[in-house]
Amino acid sequence: VSCGAFGSWCCATCRDKIEIVRTGPKDESLDGLVIAGFYHDPILRELIHGVKYDGATEFVMELGHVLRRVKQERTNPWPWAGENAMAIQPVIGSDARIRERGFDQAALIADLVREELVPWAHPVQLLTRTPTYSAQADLDPGPLRTANVHNTFHVASGVEIPSTVLLIDDVYTTGSTMRDAARALRGQGVAKIYGFAMAMGK
Ligand SMILES: [Zn+2]
Repeated sequence: VSCGAFGSWCCATCRDKIEIVRTGPKDESLDGLVIAGFYHDPILRELIHGVKYDGATEFVMELGHVLRRVKQERTNPWPWAGENAMAIQPVIGSDARIRERGFDQAALIADLVREELVPWAHPVQLLTRTPTYSAQADLDPGPLRTANVHNTFHVASGVEIPSTVLLIDDVYTTGSTMRDAARALRGQGVAKIYGFAMAMGK
C-alpha cells in the first residue's frame, strides 16, 4: 500500500501519514462515537478497501497500527470511559456479501478494536440482518440509502441483552446503518450504545 517499500504491507512512514480523527464526531442516536480516520485519506482508504473488496485480511494488522495511533493522539476522552462492562458487536454485512467474501470485515475490525482499545469488552452476536435490496456502497448518500437500511437489523431471539454495546463498522458515512443497528438494540432494552468506525466517509 502506498510507497511499496519492501518489508511490510504498509511502511511506518506511510502509516504515519494517515490523518487521525482526534475528537468527535456526534451522532444523536448514539451515546458516543469514535472514528479513527478519514475515508478520503488515500492510504487508509486503500487499507480498508483492500480488506473489504480484495480479501486482503493481512491489512487488518496495519489497521491495528492506526488504532494504536488513535490511542496516542486522540484528545477527547473515550465516550465509554467509566463503563465497566460493555458488549462489542460488529455492524454485520449482508449474508450475500459475507458469503461472497468469505468473511465479514466489520467482524475483523471488531476483533481488532477489542484487542487494541477495549480488551475488557466482550464480543457478542446479537444482530441479524435481513437481506438488503442493494449494497450501501452502490447507492448515493441520501434518502435512498437511509431507506435501504431502515429496519435492516433485528436482535436475534433468545440472546442475553447487555446494557451497554459498542457497535463497530468499517466506514461511517451518513450513519444510517449504525442508527438502524442502534434502533434494533434499543428496542430490545440496550440502555447505552456507542459507535466506532475505522473511517469517516463524506
Ligand atoms: Zn510507505
